[in-house]
Amino acid sequence: MSKFLIDKYASLEAYTPGEQPRDMQYVKLNTNESPYPASPGVVAGISAEEVARLNLYPDPECKLLKEKLAAHYGVGYENIFVSNGSDEILSFAFMAFCSEQTGAVFPNISYGFYKVYGDLYGVDYTQAKLREDFTIDVNDYIGVNKTVVIANPNAPTGLSLSVEDIGRICASNPDNVVLIDEAYIDFGGKSCVGLVGKYDNLLVVRTYSKSRSMAGARLGFAIASKEIIGDLNRIKYSTNPYNINRLTLIAGAAAIDDNDYYADCCKKVAATREYAKSRLTDLGFTYLDSVANFIFARSDKIDGGEYYRKLKQNGVLVRHFSDPLISDFVRITVGTREQMDILFEKTEKILSEV
Ligand code: PMP
Repeated sequence: MSKFLIDKYASLEAYTPGEQPRDMQYVKLNTNESPYPASPGVVAGISAEEVARLNLYPDPECKLLKEKLAAHYGVGYENIFVSNGSDEILSFAFMAFCSEQTGAVFPNISYGFYKVYGDLYGVDYTQAKLREDFTIDVNDYIGVNKTVVIANPNAPTGLSLSVEDIGRICASNPDNVVLIDEAYIDFGGKSCVGLVGKYDNLLVVRTYSKSRSMAGARLGFAIASKEIIGDLNRIKYSTNPYNINRLTLIAGAAAIDDNDYYADCCKKVAATREYAKSRLTDLGFTYLDSVANFIFARSDKIDGGEYYRKLKQNGVLVRHFSDPLISDFVRITVGTREQMDILFEKTEKILSEV
């Protein structure tokens, strides 16, 4: 830390992204990426001509991409916001809608970045405890008079809330934003996008990083009332108007045209997830009944941290969290069937040695 850093950031505990090692070729099941490549239309869209046009700034309005998203999700153009990954929307939303006065509430076990943004922006947040079975107790979010932030499905549990429950949360907090982070919704949960017309406080956040195979392009989007979208634009135009690069804008629009390709990828991931659950059962693991593209699993035979380390030695990366509430578990991203079979082969070997 330099002597120049201002005091309020000195104690900030930054988010730790999942490791991206370059030392060897791992079976990479640790950051919930799609195992499938970007679609043919996306690959074709990033032509040599478009690369050559990188001398020009991108469209700050992101018009074409927003038009495609609005048509695809059946909402108005003014209901769409796009960003450099969905993390950027989360950052803007914490900046715009949370403070020391307007607190926030999110689950104690959830996406780790909520807490980091809460700390970064000096938010008075509370972390509502999940139930013993790792489900969210909706009552913790009813009439709280704070900004509500919930990942649905939740991460790293993979468990989801119903659209009705999200509607109840919105209805009971009319003076606060309810941010529903649907990063993993395309793999099985039910989206609440249909509620945006009904609740002007609902902010639905989505990403291209998982179900649209574009984690490397950095593209997220939000769907909400035009007033909330206006607020996000106010922050964007006060920080970085060109927040999405030219190539990502092209890729994002092309991906909407290739929707069938991505729907098929999601179907394959969901089928592999169910296959993986049955293999985990056979190996004596217990797991939460995820509807996302990852499974949160544990075994009585091996500690979560040890299992993670042994898998890594065997060339398979999964994610382990040191938080004692969940340190028994590992989070396994659902890859291709072949990748999962390698995971299970290595797991059998590891278990036979402990
Ligand atoms: N929300 C959740 C719940 C996530 O797990 C992630 C991925 N780490 C994100 C948002 C951010 O994804 P991205 O910035 O790649 O869109």
